[in-house]
Amino acid sequence: RESRAMKFQRQHMDPDGPSNNSNYCNQMMRRRHMTEGWCKPVNTFVHEPLVDVQAICLQGNILCKNGKPNCHKSSSSMKITDCRVKSSSEYPDCDYQTSHKKRHIIVVCEGNPYVPVHFHASV
Ligand code: 5GP
Repeated sequence: RESRAMKFQRQHMDPDGPSNNSNYCNQMMRRRHMTEGWCKPVNTFVHEPLVDVQAICLQGNILCKNGKPNCHKSSSSMKITDCRVKSSSEYPDCDYQTSHKKRHIIVVCEGNPYVPVHFHASV
């Protein structure tokens, strides 16, 4: 079974990306299995080395929106791609808007080793 840490990597890590095209989200959301059963509405991919994203778990500890204490905000801004399903999208033809950005990211960390298991927000 896929661990929460592996699921985070599948859903959010693309260190070598983005391939420079407006179809990025349509291709990646499908390739990473987030368009099965439904079109996952919002998803962020991070284009930084895995070790740099894992290191966020040792950086700025903040309260999550749900009051839990294990959110962490990256000390540097990171290259990300924001994928948002278009209002005209109809499952199973999931159609996304692709926006490349540089933002600080907030992840939830868990376990031993203490690693990212959930993408919370970009700010
Ligand atoms: P909106 O911007 O539509 O009001 O809300 C989108 C929400 O999704 C924001 O709270 C944003 O932080 C969050 N978000 C962005 N990327 C992801 C992601 O990959 N996974 C999850 N669960 N939430 C995300």
